[in-house]
Amino acid sequence: MNIKGIGASKGIGIGKAVVLKAAEDKGKFVDKRILESEIEKETDRFNKAVADTAKYYDEIIVKARGVLKEQEIQVFEAYKLLLNDPILMDMIADFIKNELLCAEGSLIKAVEQVKSMFLALNDEYMRQRAEDIENVGKNIFMSLTGNMPADLSNLYEDSIIVAEDLSPADTVSLDRRHVKGFAVEKGGVTSHTAIIARTMEIPALVGCGSELKKINNGDTLIVDGIKGVLIPNPEPDVLKEYLDLQNEYNRQVEKIKSLKDEPSITLDGRKVLLAGNIATPEEANEVLSRGGEGIGLFRTEFLYLNRDNLPSEDEQFEAYRKVAEVMKDRPCIIRTLDIGGDKQSALLNIPKEENPFLGYRAIRICLTERDIFKTQLRAILRASAFGNLRVMFPMISCIEELREAKAVLKEAMSELDERNIQYNKDIEVGIMIEVPSAAISADILAKEADFFSIGTNDLCQYTLAVDRMNEKITALYNPLNIGVLRLIKNVIDAAHERGIEVGMCGEMASNPEYAVLLIGLGLDELSMVPASIPYVKQAVRNISFERAANIAKTALSLGETDKIINLLKEESNAY
Ligand code: PEP
Ligand code: MG
Repeated sequence: MNIKGIGASKGIGIGKAVVLKAAEDKGKFVDKRILESEIEKETDRFNKAVADTAKYYDEIIVKARGVLKEQEIQVFEAYKLLLNDPILMDMIADFIKNELLCAEGSLIKAVEQVKSMFLALNDEYMRQRAEDIENVGKNIFMSLTGNMPADLSNLYEDSIIVAEDLSPADTVSLDRRHVKGFAVEKGGVTSHTAIIARTMEIPALVGCGSELKKINNGDTLIVDGIKGVLIPNPEPDVLKEYLDLQNEYNRQVEKIKSLKDEPSITLDGRKVLLAGNIATPEEANEVLSRGGEGIGLFRTEFLYLNRDNLPSEDEQFEAYRKVAEVMKDRPCIIRTLDIGGDKQSALLNIPKEENPFLGYRAIRICLTERDIFKTQLRAILRASAFGNLRVMFPMISCIEELREAKAVLKEAMSELDERNIQYNKDIEVGIMIEVPSAAISADILAKEADFFSIGTNDLCQYTLAVDRMNEKITALYNPLNIGVLRLIKNVIDAAHERGIEVGMCGEMASNPEYAVLLIGLGLDELSMVPASIPYVKQAVRNISFERAANIAKTALSLGETDKIINLLKEESNAY
């Protein structure tokens, strides 16, 4: 029987099932006693499980570099520290020796006690530590029971990974040559698994439910990420049909990728600049290889993460110059430091906050830590002598902040003048529109900014009051909500009224169906993960601006999200 899921990453994957085992039932170990003569053996068994768990974390950390965010990697560093935690470890040794509990039972009891101690302190930080202890306990338990996650880094045949859910640890270690698809019980399209699958361009189904438990290792599986269905052990004719479909789909993808050198213009000749979002200078090459015509967002905060000192002016200058030189005269928007929210750095000593997304982040930090801000601005200005760089401030919520940031930029310019250093004195200065107050007052901001870039990732979460990290409420996080669309329209109209350019660098811009609406609303530039550029280019080239504008008008008049979704689906099928 076929199993329905949510298509989270398009394409068709065919391979043998590799089922990730769920952890064994803990209950049966809780009261399991040992003999006094078994104490040493049980202690050795426990110590070996801890050593294996440490090795497992080490492997993850190595594989995760460059794949996961620094914050996610640090989780495993913290777990490793807990493996040496004397309170936890002494307690377990004591339970084995003095209460004659088996290693698993001792572990379960100690984890429960330490967790309760932390939770009793009623402090957010301690609550987090309690969760960490729980996770580390789970991993030691899996090691003790011989259930360590399957080694997905060395698969020998085309495989489909089947699991309740995939953790960052599972996904970083995937053998990319042989993983042809994922199917998981949990999650929605914005879940971590879904995002990684899209980034890796692997067909994936999420939200398949408990039906997935019927799949056995070695079953032949077809993941249809387009229709959202999993086909176990297909009949030969179905398999043949899907092999043909897969070939056809792959041909289409190659065809789309071959649009790389074609211009990004609508059927009636309107230019829409397609640019890439990057986090490291090296990714600029990827933007060019996918046919991108600029950098719409360089998330410079990644230069500040994963290290124990601040990047110097020279180091930053080299990074920005590299981008400028790779991209030659193409426009490159360098966004100033956007730390805070989900991108925390130990370097800046930001105290833990109740609401980090509403707290001390981005431009708010830069306007307080002037030296850090000015160092970055000098580095950007110096690099502006080597290409077509623009500077952009994140999280601007009012005109006063923009003025203050521009005043600091002026100071940075004067300092370079004193040092007789060359830079582009007319560098364009823009802002991200990602706070609702900025979107509503875009007409005022447009008078003093050279360009806008709409950051829908944050604009959506602030407009809809939906935390972008909270999976329980992802269904509410929809950029096609009419409230968000009206704000976007307001920003575009205000920018054009003042004759300044307006782009979008939030995830919304990477969806070809949405792109049509955004073009119709009048955006000048769309910036996205490099892999999405060819798909959006195809959408641009297949529609006239006149038609896109009509679609946008209809969408705004429909008002209801579901109706807007259907409209865009129908329209995308029409060409
Ligand atoms: C955004 O908020 O849309 C954006 C592009 O910025 P970030 O995702 O880095 O917060
Ligand atoms: Mg943002």
